[in-house]
Amino acid sequence: MSAVPAPELAEVDRGRQPGAADEWRSDLYRMACAQVLRAAETVGLEPDQVTRLIEPRRSLVVNLPIRMDGGELVNFTGYRVQHILTMGPTKGGLRYAPDLSLGQCAALAMWMTWKCALLGLPYGGAKGGVRCDPRLLSADEIERVTRRYAAEMAPIIGPDLDIPAPDMGTGEREMAWFYDTCSQAAGHAVPASVTGKPLALGGTPGRREATGLGAVFTLEAALDRLGRPLAEQRFAIQGFGNVGAVAAAKLHARGARVVGLSDIGGAIANPAGLDVEAVVRWSGEHGSVAGFPEAETIERDALLELPCDVLVPAALEHQITHVNAPRLRCRLVAEAANGPTTTEADAILAERGILVLPDVLTSGGGVTVSYFEWVQGHQKYIWTAAEIHDRLRAQMRHALDEVVTASELLGVDLRTAALSVAVRRVAEAARLRAVYP
Ligand code: NAD
Repeated sequence: MSAVPAPELAEVDRGRQPGAADEWRSDLYRMACAQVLRAAETVGLEPDQVTRLIEPRRSLVVNLPIRMDGGELVNFTGYRVQHILTMGPTKGGLRYAPDLSLGQCAALAMWMTWKCALLGLPYGGAKGGVRCDPRLLSADEIERVTRRYAAEMAPIIGPDLDIPAPDMGTGEREMAWFYDTCSQAAGHAVPASVTGKPLALGGTPGRREATGLGAVFTLEAALDRLGRPLAEQRFAIQGFGNVGAVAAAKLHARGARVVGLSDIGGAIANPAGLDVEAVVRWSGEHGSVAGFPEAETIERDALLELPCDVLVPAALEHQITHVNAPRLRCRLVAEAANGPTTTEADAILAERGILVLPDVLTSGGGVTVSYFEWVQGHQKYIWTAAEIHDRLRAQMRHALDEVVTASELLGVDLRTAALSVAVRRVAEAARLRAVYP
């Protein structure tokens, strides 16, 4: 009898370490797992309960052969990861980015699960997208990529299965193509197949603004609790896309001073406050905030280290690290992006007394309004912009209250508290449903 060769054993062992399975391997997934394990320990979950939460339940990787405008055929890779199927259908954005990977989608899908559970939405988390740089593709090419992706995902998506929404690199335009592709296949309009659609196609008033506005509602509630009026705070915002530009505009409209802004093309600063509407116009015309005349141009990543009261990362993951965390000059970090702060940076910020409003809470506005849109699509309701606005505000404030209460009760930071509330909810649902078969 021959012994099992050592490399295979090593593979098996590695596969049993949360976050180390080859399929999901990414720094981001390991970070997401570390956060969950800390929350699971805080609320005293059994090992079996953790086992059920830690690995994604389902994933699909597809090859998309796309005819480019020049006539050549190019393969793109598409992903979709569904983290938990216990809570209802899965929900999560579509990301078009050159470094997208299965491991990145796995982490982002897991965070979506906690976000939905924390906000009381009847979904598990999902995430997907296409590895591509949309800035290098024409609109026609992006349309072909989107339609082919939607067709390839047909076996695992649908109004009661998995409902995509916008994320980095995608917006209403892509959601409209996605919706049309699903509807063509079904032979009738399927408005609940995707959220973040244009208003004319059954989108919800306010969805485009929902993540940025939700972050502002969370900030307002948190600053109220801290006794610091929002209008007296100075904000620096990284990322000037769907989330960052909306957050900047809403903060500016509330009288706050936006002292720094950045996007992939550069960063600008003005300690007296930027005219955000003028920056929106400038970046619309020039493709970036960089070069805006009534501001000083600074190094792109120096934005994170600007003196301010509140830093709002609203671009990418892994932006606040052990390298720059000691140099941050803010009092509060409000994570409007997913996963912007590494585990090591979290510890440094805690030591420095810098409060972090975690992503699973602060960036939950988008999926909350997506939920309203999904319900409307299913039930053919129409809600007004004012109703959506008020519901979103109430839901974000309620979630913040729950997180603060849990943080005080459990004696942990806000991230661990938020994840503890969410993880406990999902673990309880999984316990009640038991293990099949
Ligand atoms: P987007 O593509 O609309 O905008 C991203 C912005 O970040 C752009 O302005 C881009 O130029 C900028 N950027 C990219 N790299 C940068 C860098 N190195 N430094 C500074 N800026 C950089 O994407 P979005 O929808 O605004 O998403 C931003 C973040 O918010 C992501 O983490 C996303 O997962 C998260 N999020 C988005 C939604 C949503 O509804 N769109 C919901 C929840 C969370």
